Amino acid sequence: MYSEKVMDHFMNPRNVGEIENADGVGQVGNAKCGDIMKVYLKIENDRIVDVKFKTFGCGAAIATSSISTELIKGKTVDEALALTNKAVVDALDGLPPVKLHCSVLAEEAVKAAIEDYKKRQGK
Ligand SMILES: [Zn+2]
Repeated sequence: MYSEKVMDHFMNPRNVGEIENADGVGQVGNAKCGDIMKVYLKIENDRIVDVKFKTFGCGAAIATSSISTELIKGKTVDEALALTNKAVVDALDGLPPVKLHCSVLAEEAVKAAIEDYKKRQGK
């Protein structure tokens, strides 16, 4: 049902935790599986130098948050804003259709954290 990559990121999630004095924090949730995702960003010169997440939810939600932190780490804010749930799913070698909403959540959490960052910058 799940690809090896999904299982890997579920069993060994990357960048778990939180960042003290983060430059942007985003939290989103979905009613479908009750997933809650929180993303913390450390940003220097418009580049994401560190990213951590905390996810309470199903295995697919944990795997999609983990892979999305890897996808945006080291990227500029604009590059990270271009992250799509499809890129998240592709990076995981696919997700079962019933779990696609978890990848949408990962995209939304990253965008919410960036919006928070921009708000704090007064943009
Ligand atoms: Zn889910």
